[in-house]
Amino acid sequence: MTHSSGTDPTMGEMVIVGSMALDSVKTPFGAVDRVAGGAAVYAAMAASVLAPPRVVGVIGDDFPDETLATLRERGVDLSGVERVPGGKSFYWSGVYDYSLGERDSLVTELNVFADWRPVLPEAYRSSRYCFLANIQPQVQLSVLDQLQDTCFVMCDTMNYWIEHEREALDQVLSRVDLALLNDAEVRQLADTPNLAQAADAVLEMGPKWVVIKKGEYGAALVARDEYFSIPSYPLPNVVDPTGAGDSFAGGMIGLLARHDDCCSRELRRAVAFGTVIASACVEDFSLGGLERLGNGELRRRYDELREIVRFEAMEWEGLV
Ligand code: AMP
Repeated sequence: MTHSSGTDPTMGEMVIVGSMALDSVKTPFGAVDRVAGGAAVYAAMAASVLAPPRVVGVIGDDFPDETLATLRERGVDLSGVERVPGGKSFYWSGVYDYSLGERDSLVTELNVFADWRPVLPEAYRSSRYCFLANIQPQVQLSVLDQLQDTCFVMCDTMNYWIEHEREALDQVLSRVDLALLNDAEVRQLADTPNLAQAADAVLEMGPKWVVIKKGEYGAALVARDEYFSIPSYPLPNVVDPTGAGDSFAGGMIGLLARHDDCCSRELRRAVAFGTVIASACVEDFSLGGLERLGNGELRRRYDELREIVRFEAMEWEGLV
C-alpha cells in the first residue's frame, strides 16, 4: 500500500463531495435562520478531527467566510470548492417533530448547486478514500469517473433520488464499497419492509458493506457474512439532529483515511467513531456542537460507548 499524505505518511488522503448550504431549521428547542450547513460541511468538520479532508462543493457569495475560515483552521483543503460570483448558495429549510425523529423539508433551493458539475483538482484525484454525500447520482457518477487509485468509496443518497433517478443510483451503488443509508431508504431501495432482507438486497446491488442509520436507535454495519450493531451515544440534551448523518459519515471516512485501512475491524471502529462524533453534532444548531467538541470529551464518549455494549458470556450449564 502506498501512502502519500502531506503531513503524516501513515494517512490515506480523503475527498468529500456534497452540499455546502445555508440552512433554516426549527426544532422544539429553538430555531435558526440561514446558518452554515450542508452535508459536505458537516462531514468535513467531523473528519477533520482525524485527518485533513479535501472538499469538493459549490457556494455563492452568501456563504459565511467565518465557516470557511473555521474549516481551513482545521486543516480542510477547500481548493475544490467553487465560489460562484453573484450566485446564491444551496438553501434548505426543515422543521422537526416533537420527538426529533421526523422532519419535513419546507424549502430546497438548489441555486448554484443546480448546474454544478464538479471538477476535481488534479491533486484530489488520487485520494484513497472518498465520501460521496447526498447529491444527484449523476454528479456522484461524474466524481467516480474522475477518481484514480481510490481504494474505498462511501455514498449516501435520499428518498428523492431512489424514486426519481433510480437508474443512475443503481450505477453508483454498483461502483461503491459502502452505502450509508437510513432505515427507510434501505427499505425503499429494496422494496421490502424487513431490514435484514432489505440490507441483503442492497448488498446484491454492488456495495460490499451497508451501514443502516437508525437515528436515536443507533446504526448497523452489514456485509454478506457479517453483522455489527451499535446504539447511539445516550444524550440528555438533543437540540437539532440536522447533519448527524453527515457527521457520522465524516467520522467514518476520517478514521479509515487516518489508518489507511478498510478491513472489517477498522470499519467497526469507524462506525463507533461516527456514532460518537454525531452525538456532538446534535447537541447544538449548525456546527456549534462539532466546533466545541474537544479531544478529551470525544475520547470519554468513545470509551463510554464501548462500556455500554460490553456484556458477559452466559453460563449455560444447569439450564433446562
Ligand atoms: P442530514 O441531517 O445528515 O440528513 O443532513 C442535513 C444537511 O443536508 C443539511 O445541512 C442540508 O443543507 C443538506 N441537505 C438537505 N437536503 C439536501 C439535498 N436535497 N441535497 C443535498 N443536501 C441536502
